[in-house]
Amino acid sequence: MSEVQQQIEANPTLQAVVKTNATNLLGLDRAGLETFFESIGEKKFRATQVMKWIHQLGVTDFQEMNNLSKDLRNQLAETSCIQNLQVTKDMLSTDGTRKWLLQLSDGNHIEAVFIPEDDRGTLCVSSQVGCALDCSFCSTGRQGFNRNLTTAEIISQVWLAAHLLEEEKKPGRKITNVVMMGMGEPLLNFDNTITAVRIMMDDFAYGLSKRRVTVSTAGVVPAMDRLGDTLDMRLAVSLHASNDKLRDELVPVNKKYPLKELMAACRRFIDKQNSRSRITFEYVMLDGINDQPEHARELIKLLKGIPTLMNLIPFNPFEGSGYRTSSKNAVSRFREILHNSGMTTVVRKTRGEDIDAACGQLAGKIEDKSRRHRRFEEPRFGME
Ligand code: SAH
Repeated sequence: MSEVQQQIEANPTLQAVVKTNATNLLGLDRAGLETFFESIGEKKFRATQVMKWIHQLGVTDFQEMNNLSKDLRNQLAETSCIQNLQVTKDMLSTDGTRKWLLQLSDGNHIEAVFIPEDDRGTLCVSSQVGCALDCSFCSTGRQGFNRNLTTAEIISQVWLAAHLLEEEKKPGRKITNVVMMGMGEPLLNFDNTITAVRIMMDDFAYGLSKRRVTVSTAGVVPAMDRLGDTLDMRLAVSLHASNDKLRDELVPVNKKYPLKELMAACRRFIDKQNSRSRITFEYVMLDGINDQPEHARELIKLLKGIPTLMNLIPFNPFEGSGYRTSSKNAVSRFREILHNSGMTTVVRKTRGEDIDAACGQLAGKIEDKSRRHRRFEEPRFGME
């Protein structure tokens, strides 16, 4: 160990300074790593070597990267880091769903959830601390917006889940799909989300195909256009209402980008993708609010001509939400009407209820909820 390194080891303040300046390699996609290596006088192919070590082999200590020279390993250890989030809570539901409460370096918390099904394992990933969109039925919205996650903080959720699941050594506990449906609006954290998605899809990292990564949006129209121009992946749109009056109330971003504009953006998105793709629409079923047969009929008209997978989500109640879950009868009647029109319609199963991991219940740590009263002071829509 050099003298400088010894001084740093002995001094926590210096350690913090070094850490802040270090590049967190977890947050660089292949192009980013190539630029990084070139900037330190190395060949580009170091990027794929290091990606494999980090994401496929789960190695965070540069000294273990034995296809790099000793000098390079030391240089990396001094100038960069592979810094993951800290796991504060790790909860396993009786149905196999596993949820992690993760602490960021500034003390904020976010959540990630693994949902195993017969033929796949889906990881639900957060993109922001809190959310600015204030959807009336969503508990994350109650916290207000705090900040965007960095690419490293988004990818760390995947890294940690992949490696903690591997430690279980049980069949069927592998991430095959990622959905950006955790806390936050991914399209209002556009660049970091895109870079993270590139890492998820990179063969030297997680190797997920474009059909297995879904970005979910409440309908930020300009960003949907940008997304379509940038990358092939699945798009989910949180619709929740069949007309503007109702949607203005449930999903306030609708006042800025009403249904006509949203539907036009969906059509443009589909046109940019290959012919087999369709859009997933999410529709949370709220008792007596949006679950009547006339709403289903309005939806059929609204979505005409858009290749649709309709996901009906039973509302997951939380304290003070002011909404009730639609009855089983209302949900099946609604599903029937959509189905009979030829729309592929599924009712999403509620998972991980015993660990508060169900849709829309991701709220970080309890004390974060004190931000509730401040939510209207936050910038509402961060992107023009
Ligand atoms: N901001 C993005 C992604 C996060 S929300 C978006 O709006 O799509 C992921 C999904 O969970 C959205 O469809 C959201 O509307 C839904 N959701 C939020 N709160 C819910 C609740 N209490 N019950 C059921 N679904 C909920």
